[in-house]
Amino acid sequence: MAKCTICGNKIAELFLGKLKGTIIKKEGKSKQYEVCFECQKKFKNKEEMLKEIK
Ligand SMILES: [Zn+2]
Repeated sequence: MAKCTICGNKIAELFLGKLKGTIIKKEGKSKQYEVCFECQKKFKNKEEMLKEIK
């Protein structure tokens, strides 16, 4: 099961393996970061979320 990169909580899966949350990438990097729905709501945009990821 996928885990949120920011808070470490497990991310619920919807149908067809779609995550209840989002996947973000850093500019120019291929690594993907899963972010849960709660963190997605907490941070206004992708830039704010990426700031939380070391
Ligand atoms: Zn989270």
